[in-house]
Amino acid sequence: MAVHPQPVQAPGRVLSTLNVDGTRRWLRPRPSRGRWWDRRRVLAYVLMFVFFAIPYIRFQGKPLILLDLPRREFTLFGTTFLPTETLLFMLGFLSVGITIFLLTALFGRVWCGWGCPQTVYMEFLFRPLERLIEGGPRGSVQIDQQGGLAPRRLLKYAIYLLLAIFLAHTFLAYFVGIDALKHWVTRPPQQHWTSFLVMAGTTLAIFLDFAWFREQTCLVACPYGRLQSVLLDKRSLIVGYDAVRGEPRAKGGALRVLNAGDCVDCTMCVQTCPTGIDIRDGLQMECIHCTQCMDACDAVMAKVGKPLGLIRYSSMEELAGKARRLFRLRVMLYPLALSVALGLFTWNLLHRPSAEITVLRVVGAPYTLQSDGTVVSPIRIKIANRAGELQRYQITLTSKDDGRVVVPIDPFPVPAHATASTVVFFELPRTAFVNGEREVTFTVSDGAHFTRALAYRLVGPSPAPDGGSK
Ligand code: SF4
Ligand code: SF4
Repeated sequence: MAVHPQPVQAPGRVLSTLNVDGTRRWLRPRPSRGRWWDRRRVLAYVLMFVFFAIPYIRFQGKPLILLDLPRREFTLFGTTFLPTETLLFMLGFLSVGITIFLLTALFGRVWCGWGCPQTVYMEFLFRPLERLIEGGPRGSVQIDQQGGLAPRRLLKYAIYLLLAIFLAHTFLAYFVGIDALKHWVTRPPQQHWTSFLVMAGTTLAIFLDFAWFREQTCLVACPYGRLQSVLLDKRSLIVGYDAVRGEPRAKGGALRVLNAGDCVDCTMCVQTCPTGIDIRDGLQMECIHCTQCMDACDAVMAKVGKPLGLIRYSSMEELAGKARRLFRLRVMLYPLALSVALGLFTWNLLHRPSAEITVLRVVGAPYTLQSDGTVVSPIRIKIANRAGELQRYQITLTSKDDGRVVVPIDPFPVPAHATASTVVFFELPRTAFVNGEREVTFTVSDGAHFTRALAYRLVGPSPAPDGGSK
């Protein structure tokens, strides 16, 4: 007789989104409308509007934000950065990193609860729609228990999909620009399969995130959430339960008489939590500081005639009965480090040369050998003109070679604040190449303020064993 192993069960819940047998525990939080909810909702809709509007906004003739990956150009507020500007990128990322450290040390996970797109769209777009279509948390639970796909759930998924398509298009507009996006959506997919597949993949990822993965993004996938244990300290702002005041908790009635704490154990703070935790267990990594439990508990406290704020913005030190203190060494060192990083960033930004040159290989044969023995080697030169007016660039061979460089349009014009590239041809005698290579030096100059010397190793013919070339 076959022996079936008993299913393994955890002794307790290990993750708020899992049951003890390891199956998914779907969270259907009850919304708690209160003063914090109202404030977050206003901010959420402002952020959504800003996100949708930015791709359409131009500044100094450029998109306000364009992270053009195919062309490897990153435009922020009228300034274009190229991947070769490594120092600026390093200082920029360093500044962002220190800012995150500083804000988290001071204000805890305020970003997660108030500004993160995952929270904003989940709590103020997708979940409200779910509650509207499925009939609130109770309706969703009923559909869960029935199993299968109820028509209301199908309708919800259909609307989620439309929203995901819209969000994916907006998101990708940050990477390709609104003009390219319009071009894609007005033409059939077979004219641009790659773009279509990128769009479809992004849509699917957004749909799965909000329809299925949901709060697990914050609990298991988000690296920022994982870092909380090192970023927070006892004086950081947190959403905390005042156990001194609330305990021993008691469900009204007899125990109240025996000096019970203010917590009436109604579990409203647990039922409203979008990550499924009980804030009364103390500060937990799953807490995204969304303030829903604060609103839920304030409503209960108002009903039972107790002061509000049993769950409130506080700090671990303050909740332990100590005075609230903001300053400590790390919140003084972070601004110092931030000032240095931002200062260096600004100095380097202001002292950038007026053009950036990138030399690229061309696709195809690296050289051609002419009948007169001349080797013609094409290379692509990309010029980013940061000046506020059109510039014409001359490309001149400076190495002592018996050759020349041919530029199809000479001097090569690049409009103000634009990037353009041209293929140039180095014509050198075959004898200039040693072991199939020749390093040439040349300059790119606008004839006035900008001159840059460059070196490039050309590929050419190797001498053949018989003294010829191959
Ligand atoms: S414990 Fe409170 S603040 Fe934290 S995630 Fe849950 S509801 Fe939001
Ligand atoms: S909402 Fe307030 S009173 Fe109710 S269980 Fe939570 S902490 Fe206690």
